[in-house]
Amino acid sequence: MNAKEEAKKVFLTEPLKMLVGYVIMSLSPFFLSLIPQIRDWFQSAAPYSLLLKFAGALLTALLLSGAYIFHLRKEASRLKEEQGSHPFFKFNVWWGKDHNPLCPTCKTNLLQSRGAAISMDGYSSSRAPFSLWCFNCNKPIDIVDDTDSELSLAEAKKRISNTTAT
Ligand SMILES: [Zn+2]
Repeated sequence: MNAKEEAKKVFLTEPLKMLVGYVIMSLSPFFLSLIPQIRDWFQSAAPYSLLLKFAGALLTALLLSGAYIFHLRKEASRLKEEQGSHPFFKFNVWWGKDHNPLCPTCKTNLLQSRGAAISMDGYSSSRAPFSLWCFNCNKPIDIVDDTDSELSLAEAKKRISNTTAT
């Protein structure tokens, strides 16, 4: 589990804990007021109907917060799924299942082009030693990082598993 996942977990569980504590604290006067002697005291301190309205408002807030947290959790799992199993775009190529590189144009599996394939198609073999080849588009594909410097397939895979590890 990396720091990003950790942060996500904290982000999603902390509000829940706070919410439960908050609701128990806020609703306790209402439940206490059900005990007759205490209820009498509460009724003299505040109208019972006001307490009911207060509890109603709290329950509404609880439902809304619950819905919001549910939405956040769904969003987080969607994001995770997007990174994990569906092709995602990074370093100028798409990455499919098991982090196989796919062509940025047609999403065909890319093959590592070594000297033979490169010179056959008229490209100098001194070109990008890490170049990948799309046989569908019939062109070389480079894996480049954010600073436009070329990455080897192994290096790109390593960086990807570092950011998607669970
Ligand atoms: Zn292609």
